[in-house]
Amino acid sequence: MSMRFSGQPPALRRSPSASAAATGMLTLAWCLLQNLMPLPAALADAKPNEGLSYGQFLEKIDQGLVKSVELDEARGLAHVRLEGEAEDKAAHQVLLFTGERNPELMRRLLKNDVEVNIRDSSGNGALAWLATNSLLGLILIFGLLMLLRRSAAGAGNAMNFGRSRARFQMEAKTGVVFDDVAGIEEAKEELQEVVAFLKNPEKFTAIGARIPRGVLLIGQPGTGKTLLAKAIAGEAGVPFFSISGSEFVEMFVGVGASRVRDLFRKAKENAPCIVFIDEIDAVGRQRGAGIGGGNDEREQTLNQLLTEMDGFEGNSGIIVIAATNRVDVLDAALLRPGRFDRQVIVDLPTYRGRLSILEVHARNKKIDPEVSLEAVARRTPGFSGAELANLLNEAAILTARRRKEAITMLEIEDAIDRITIGLSLTPLLDSSRKRMTAYHEVGHALLTTLLTHSDELNKVTIIPRSGGIEGFTQSLPNEDIIDSGLYTRNWLMDRITVALGGLAAEAEVFGDDETSTGASGDIQQVTNLARQMVTLYGMSDLGPLALESMDNQVFLGRNLMPRSEVSEEMASKIDAKVREIALSCLARARQMLRDNRALMDHLVDLLMERETIDGDEFRRIVSQYTEIPKKFLVKAG
Ligand code: ADP
Ligand code: ZN
Repeated sequence: MSMRFSGQPPALRRSPSASAAATGMLTLAWCLLQNLMPLPAALADAKPNEGLSYGQFLEKIDQGLVKSVELDEARGLAHVRLEGEAEDKAAHQVLLFTGERNPELMRRLLKNDVEVNIRDSSGNGALAWLATNSLLGLILIFGLLMLLRRSAAGAGNAMNFGRSRARFQMEAKTGVVFDDVAGIEEAKEELQEVVAFLKNPEKFTAIGARIPRGVLLIGQPGTGKTLLAKAIAGEAGVPFFSISGSEFVEMFVGVGASRVRDLFRKAKENAPCIVFIDEIDAVGRQRGAGIGGGNDEREQTLNQLLTEMDGFEGNSGIIVIAATNRVDVLDAALLRPGRFDRQVIVDLPTYRGRLSILEVHARNKKIDPEVSLEAVARRTPGFSGAELANLLNEAAILTARRRKEAITMLEIEDAIDRITIGLSLTPLLDSSRKRMTAYHEVGHALLTTLLTHSDELNKVTIIPRSGGIEGFTQSLPNEDIIDSGLYTRNWLMDRITVALGGLAAEAEVFGDDETSTGASGDIQQVTNLARQMVTLYGMSDLGPLALESMDNQVFLGRNLMPRSEVSEEMASKIDAKVREIALSCLARARQMLRDNRALMDHLVDLLMERETIDGDEFRRIVSQYTEIPKKFLVKAG
């Protein structure tokens, strides 16, 4: 059961006359269709079919006799449908004590699993009746409605801008449990406590424990922050309110702040509950700090948020969970005690994490027993939970398209390539361009295989991909290195050499004047790596100096931008060192390819013919010509 609030303050409702007019006409048309059936009570909205007293209503809820309830806040009415009643019968109307939804009633409704809908304006009664009537009528008149709606929309919005149309969502039950969240065990562990509190607040307050009010989840997109927040609500069995920080940021001053007020008002009515604010950085940036140019609206919204959080009494049962990937830009006031003082980092999953995420998402898919999820996890370092979920989904789609029974490794491989590289296109016909691409890729692949510290080659292909990619060489990243985040100088130097292998091969075979622009991506990578070696890791003879700062990139995963705060003299020394590294690696690459020219030519012929060669096969051929480092097992075959 899920509810979506679109409730507006009654005073400034989106002009209901337009939709009332529309429904009026629709009803007319409908009545003609139905042989002039009498207008239903819901349309006239004056005298209900059969009233229920508030007391009777509560009784019926507890007896489980209530099927659904539609709350009409504007008029303090509840339209009640009882179990076993005919659909076309008008709903019973109950006069509520207060116009507001009262928390006690809500709790009862939720407890008894009653479907609850919120009616946002009084003009929609007939529409609701129509909706519950025959579908046929609706289809016939849908077009008419759309027309009227559209003409009304302009006027409606203009009248509405000043007040909040709270665009937050509420899920009474998220249905997500901790078992659905995998690979971020530490974060889960830390949040168990929040669940315990929501389930049993008295236990905590009795001994005077201060209850957390705000939890900040920090991590890249797709790591499962929303999922985690939903799981907390699901485990604790409390409603889940959510809104995105970007929803707060509106054109008109005051809208954001009033949205925050609305959100917390609803949350208090439904406490205990979780309020989830996604992308909090959109609203919670440092106040008065250049970015966004002193946006009044944002500041007001932020202030309102702070006020609301400070305003919770000791035990209001609301826990605010916010998500961001940019904790560095958040206003310090948000992070003070009593606000988002609890911070939980949600990292990209490691190998084990990826494996368990894959297992979660494999549950509802038909996967061939031959498929090893371990192998898939090993193939996907750097993938977020969302990307892994997407990967299995893509594989399932491919499987269906290929009319297979179950997902095999082939579909998974293809899905990985599709996600990381792009759609595959039809191969080029034999041409000099194709030959050049083959040399370029074999250059990368051969060096990958020959160098001692490089990663393991997975495959090399000259089947083009969308986005102008003419071929690629793929290696399996070394899990230990990726997970530890520690790279040795040897590893970096080999990496740079491999990256220059394409250019080196072109130059060796076709001459310096004939090299192509196809190596631009490689060169970018080389420059970044070499620069980091010099300025961050102290791996040049400039010494162990931090010549660029590392901050800001932690959660951005971006390449380092040269933002040095060094003297001009040092800057030119850095440039010289970077150049030295690149040139020495290029020389090494060319030398190695020159030494293995016959092997390279043979591999190119083979690649021209087959278009893709996998890692094992490639190593087997190489090992017939020369010795390759022991690190790779050469499988027979
Ligand atoms: P975020 O809020 O961090 O951007 P989401 O929670 O929206 O990420 O993740 C999107 C989807 O990706 C989830 O609905 C889920 O299907 C999948 N997913 C992400 N992280 C995980 C995880 N740790 N375990 C299982 N599924 C995950
Ligand atoms: Zn290349």
